[in-house]
Formats: sequence, structure tokens, C-alpha cells
Amino acid sequence: MSDLAANIARAKSYLARFHQDGVMNHIGGESVAAADGLTFQSVSPVDMEPLATVARGTAADIDRAAKAAKAAFPAWAAMSGEARKALLHRIADAIVRRAEEIAFVECMDTGQALKFMSKAALRGAENFRFFADRAPEARDGRTLRAPDQVNMTTRVPIGPVGIITPWNTPFMLSTWKIAPALAAGCTVVHKPAELSPLSARLLVEIAEEAGLPKGVWNLVNGFGEDAGRALTEHPDIKAIGFVGESRTGSMIMRQGADTLKRVHFELGGKNPVIVFADADLERAADAAVFMIYSLNGERCTSSSRLLVEESIHDAFTATVAEKARRIPIGHPLDPKTVIGPLIHPDHEKKVLSYVDAARREGATIAAGGAKVTTGDLGRGCYVEPTLFTNARNDMRIAQEEIFGPVLTAIPFRDEAEALALANDVHYGLTGYLWTSDVTRAFRFTDALQAGMIWVNSENVRHLPTPFGGIKNSGIGRDGGDWSFDFYMETKNVAFATGAHAIARLGG
Ligand code: NAD
Repeated sequence: MSDLAANIARAKSYLARFHQDGVMNHIGGESVAAADGLTFQSVSPVDMEPLATVARGTAADIDRAAKAAKAAFPAWAAMSGEARKALLHRIADAIVRRAEEIAFVECMDTGQALKFMSKAALRGAENFRFFADRAPEARDGRTLRAPDQVNMTTRVPIGPVGIITPWNTPFMLSTWKIAPALAAGCTVVHKPAELSPLSARLLVEIAEEAGLPKGVWNLVNGFGEDAGRALTEHPDIKAIGFVGESRTGSMIMRQGADTLKRVHFELGGKNPVIVFADADLERAADAAVFMIYSLNGERCTSSSRLLVEESIHDAFTATVAEKARRIPIGHPLDPKTVIGPLIHPDHEKKVLSYVDAARREGATIAAGGAKVTTGDLGRGCYVEPTLFTNARNDMRIAQEEIFGPVLTAIPFRDEAEALALANDVHYGLTGYLWTSDVTRAFRFTDALQAGMIWVNSENVRHLPTPFGGIKNSGIGRDGGDWSFDFYMETKNVAFATGAHAIARLGG
């Protein structure tokens, strides 16, 4: 049996329970159908075959889940940081034990390649370990002295929180948002994306099997406009951690206004990779290719704009085009596959519409640009890795987030033009700079409008560093202690250190 055939057989065994029982909500420690019995179908982008019938939660389910999270909050918040640390490590251990199941289910649900999803499952465990280790110190604060006074700050968990996640790498992203909330002492209602709901169900089960008390983590499946909306409007939910599109972020802000929700947004990007002629061009080409074509280009931090110094533009883009053509496209469970199917036919249509836009706007399609229609792949949402050249920054292909394996290359004359082009978008999530001139690197990164910048590197995450975007790419930061700032309230207590004179009012 080939590796692929063996993997497909294993995936079938992992998916059998979803075929049979569907995906239920999970509220107060119980697996439950939606209150009004509604469901929706989840299909695999690999072959459009149904994967599961999923509970379609609405406002009534969110209300139940929010009440469960509220009821569980006092005991969870009062638990010692050490006890929470031990529990979160047990969840990480359980994720590692079930990493293959998580990765296989995720591949079939999202179309992402096993090559990346097996790492993403383990990164999920790392997220739990990272925040587990910080749980004991999460409440610590500072002392601030004044005459006759010592101030002590302390942090307390904000309360039950709502977590809303997208479909692209749902398992990893859910752990990234939920682990710090739990470590901080918050209880959670999670609303995963309707297009890839399977791994969120595994995650809540794993957490409770590892000993998480009932009601601390609740899961409500459903659509953004009803379950998602109700979560953002619920008065018992004190904050919303959201990962998704920028325009959904605006909607959530409006929806949360009446209940004064605290919001944390990780949104879209149109991230530049800027390549100067003095860079290590071989490494720069590999990194540019990796950052746009890995994870099907369905990645917020993807380097979707390639800005290249004029003198090397033609040779460099020819190298990138050549590398793009050689990228293996295939079934996500094939260990060799880099590019799998896009999440859904609607998304595939959107991505391909940019190929038409590129043609209309006068750009050149230097690689790819078509749906894959051959053999079994013709049944899924496969799109070739695509490179546009001869583009201008005012074209839609240079301004809008395509969220697929599509790269737009634009030449620049000098540093000033490179910076102007890099900053001339509404987004500001990441930037990737390639140069061997250290003074320029300092100057350029100082002026580049992005929340995260890598110099002479692809995106390599270090969890203590801040993660987040500026402009339309987000509000707030995750990672390190920044996550706790969001999930906790800071209190100040002032202690008098002497008997200072108190003004007597009225005699
Ligand atoms: P989306 O905004 O369409 O959906 C994300 C989630 O929001 C889903 O669970 C959806 O059901 C929910 N939702 C939709 N409308 C809602 C509403 N009115 N109220 C409450 N919830 C609502 O995003 P998507 O298409 O699932 O994901 C792709 C987007 O996510 C891209 O823009 C990508 O850049 C972004 N993303 C950002 C990061 C980051 O860290 N910055 C990471 C991954 C993905």
C-alpha cells in the first residue's frame, strides 16, 4: 500500500465517528444538539464528500453556553496558578498523544497538507505548554511608590470570554487563543468556523478528558451571522478574541458596542516581501516561495506581495516562477504534497477571480493561474501556485487579500520607492525584508508599517514575542505576557504608609 493509500485508510478510521455521530455542541460538559435541532453539512474540499452533520447553534445555544461559562468562572478563577499550570500541561500531553488523529482530521476538513498539519497539531500542544508555564505568575503586578503610599497592581481574569476562529488552520489557532484565556483564569465559549468545525470538537474533548472542569470550555458551532453574532452581543461574555477577516472585525466591534466588549482582533494581511539586490537571493527566493505557497497561501502572514529591486527583478521572478511550477500539488494526506485543495468552491472561485482581474488589469501570469482539473484532483478545489508579474501596486491583485497560493510581483527602483509601495495598503500585519545592509535594515524596518517584521528570514515564531497587526490587520497583541493583558483586568491598590494629614471638610 502506498503512503497515501495507508493515510487515507487511517483518516477514514478517524473520521468514522464524525460520519456516524456528527459534530455536537459541548456545553457545561455535555455533548448536545442545537437547541432548535438545526444542523448543517460539513464537506471535505478534497473531494466534496460529506464529512459530518454539524449542530447549527443559534442565540439560544450561545445563551446556554455563556451561562455555563459564567457558572464555572468563580471556581476556575479561584484555582491556583500552579493547579492550572498542571492541568494545561495535561491537555498538551493529550494533544501530543492524539496528534496524528488531529492532523489527519484537519487535513480532510481544511485541505491543508499533512506536511504542515502534523507540525500544527504539535504547535497546538506547545501553545498550551507555553501559557501553562506562565499561569502561576499571571496575576503578578508592580509596586509603585509615592510619598506616604505604596501602590500594588495585580491582575484578575476578566470573566467568561468568547473566542471566534477562522477556517484556515483551525486547530492551531484555537489553541493559540484558548490556552492563554484558560491560563489567565477565564472560562471560554468557542465558536469555530463553519467551514472546518471538526478539530475544535476534538480539542474540547481532549481538554475535558485531561481533567478540565465542566463548563470551563464550551463549544457552540454555527454560522457567523447567528451564533457568532449572539456571542459578541451576550452580556455575560466580557471579551471577544477574534481571528478572521478585517470586515468581520468591524462587524464584531459594532455588535459588541452595546455591551462594551473588549475586543482583540487578528485580521487579514497583504504582506510584502522586499528583496534588495544585495540580499542572499537564493535564500530570499526560497523564503518568498515558502511564505506564499505553504498552507495553500491560506495564511494571514503569507507574503503575498513580492517587491523586488529593478536590477534583479526579471531574474528573481523567473526563479520564483520556476520554483512555483515545481511545487507538488496533491491529496493533503500524501506526505509529498505541499499544496492541497482550497477550503471551499466559493473560495476557489474568489481566488480564481483574481486571475481574471490580473488579466484585465494588464499583469502577466508568469506561473499557474488555473484550477487543477486532472484526475482525482479535478473533484476538489485545487488551484495552481500562481505568480503575477508586471503588476502595479494600485491593482486589485496588489491591494486585496486573495488568501490563496497567489503572489503579485512589483519592481522598485530604490529604497524610498520600496518603502512607499510596501506601506501603500490598508493592511499592516507582517513584512519580510531581504538585504545585507544592516543600516538599511534598521532604517527600513523602523518605517515599515507592520506589526511583525522578519529580516532575512521567513516567518519563524518565537512565542514570547508579540503577535498582531497594525492598520486594518488587527487590534491588540498575543504572545508572551501580551495575551494576559487582554484576558485580565489590572487593578491598583494604594496602601497608606503613614498617618498623613487628611483634609477635614466642614469643621
Ligand atoms: P471570517 O471573518 O469570514 O470568519 C471568521 C469567524 O468569524 C468564523 O468563525 C465566522 O463564523 C465568524 N463570523 C463571521 N461573521 C461574524 C459576525 N457577524 N459576528 C461574529 N462572528 C462572525 O474569516 P475566515 O474567512 O474564516 O478566515 C480568513 C480570514 O482570517 C483572512 O482574512 C485571514 O487573513 C484571517 N486570519 C488572520 C489571522 C491573524 O492572525 N491575523 C490568522 C488566520 C486568519
